Amino acid sequence: MKNGIHPEYHQATVKCNCGNEFSVGSTNEHIHVEICSKCHPFYTGTQKSMVARGRIDKFNRKYGIKNDEE
Ligand SMILES: [Zn+2]
Repeated sequence: MKNGIHPEYHQATVKCNCGNEFSVGSTNEHIHVEICSKCHPFYTGTQKSMVARGRIDKFNRKYGIKNDEE
């Protein structure tokens, strides 16, 4: 028998920099993110930090969100 082929899949606690917490199915137990749907400028309508811009673009691509504020 081979062990370790199938990673354990469980509910991970995701913590965001804004303090928001939510659960997601993952092989990791704890996930820390710097931005989430709660503090994402796309949802809040405010641009918190230009530094986060690159991460937001990645976020948008990951979730298929089109940013139309050119
Ligand atoms: Zn957040």
